[in-house]
Amino acid sequence: MSGAGAPPPLGVADALSRETIEAWLREEDAARLDELWRAADETRRAYVGDEVHLRGLCEVSNVCVRSCAYCGIRAPNRGVQRYRMHTGDVVACARQARAFGYGTIVLQAGEDYGLSAEWVADLVRRIKAETALAVTLSLGERPEADLAAWREAGADRYLLRFETSDERLYRHIHPDLPGRVSDRLADLRTLQRLGYEAGTGIMVGVPGQTYASVAADVDLFRGMDTDMIGIGPYLPHPATPLGAEFAARVASGDWPPDQVPNTELMTCKVVALTRLVRPDSNLPATTALSLVDKEAGRAHGLSRGANVVMPNITPPEYREKYEIYPEKADVHETAEAINASIQALLRELGRTVGTGAGGRRRTSGPGA
Ligand code: SAM
Repeated sequence: MSGAGAPPPLGVADALSRETIEAWLREEDAARLDELWRAADETRRAYVGDEVHLRGLCEVSNVCVRSCAYCGIRAPNRGVQRYRMHTGDVVACARQARAFGYGTIVLQAGEDYGLSAEWVADLVRRIKAETALAVTLSLGERPEADLAAWREAGADRYLLRFETSDERLYRHIHPDLPGRVSDRLADLRTLQRLGYEAGTGIMVGVPGQTYASVAADVDLFRGMDTDMIGIGPYLPHPATPLGAEFAARVASGDWPPDQVPNTELMTCKVVALTRLVRPDSNLPATTALSLVDKEAGRAHGLSRGANVVMPNITPPEYREKYEIYPEKADVHETAEAINASIQALLRELGRTVGTGAGGRRRTSGPGA
């Protein structure tokens, strides 16, 4: 590790100061990192058990009004063929998720106001009426009235990553819509007030993101009481401003001081530390993590703190158009093939498939 020596031993999660978190992020000694992996895995087992909850991910629309500097489906990207799925196709995905034994369907999209509040509410009602699935929405920064209508219609959870707690970096990569300041932390509080299980998360290795700022992100997770936390590596998309910046920095070797790498290892450190500070939250082994290391990313995520996987169930003709980053994992695989490989991995790891909706079970201590 670089910096002032090895981080102190891992003990009670509350004892992990922000400085200690940063020291662990900088740790590079494999034997010491084994301590971190072991502590995260033991904490995961003690608080949320060996079950892995499977959430079927359906990418309902790739239309987006935003201009996020990192995202391939940003509005200004004219190379994207845009689509919106029909209600019947989404309901068919929900039936398939149920047939696979998943407890949840996640409906994700760009920030698409063509998905009207009424259309989404009707879709949620139909999925709830036809399946026993929990419904998670991930539809961006919609007005409170929309969020309230969807909750009223039966939606259970909402995912909205704050992406980075570094205000300056956030403004750089996530421009406001005209006349509306983006405040995802406030949106998350609104979601919690409306009774959603709220999920957030970050990207790891965004150009300009420092070790100190990722340590602050983990510290923020500790204080937020969110039910789900998704952590994935930043994957550069060439048709985006941030992808171009990333490529230029790779070519010149000119990185900001203290730049955090967008590697599998760094992402696993963030997942493991997050498990220690939020022992009973649901943490996915993200698709981006499985892409950055196709051999071992998902297995490492699951053995270093994660307890959720989100298999993609979007029909392939849409999935290939939902290109938030290039070469998205599983893009040409069928939902059946993705499901089979995840089930095989869980057997290999000695983990069981979670039953029921797989919501957060708040615990006050190990095994409680
Ligand atoms: N529109 C919704 C929103 O912004 O929350 C949901 C869809 S958005 C594509 C889902 C997540 O994808 C974002 O929160 C972001 O963290 C992640 N993402 C987008 N582009 C990415 C990239 N190039 N690398 C890694 N993750 C990315």
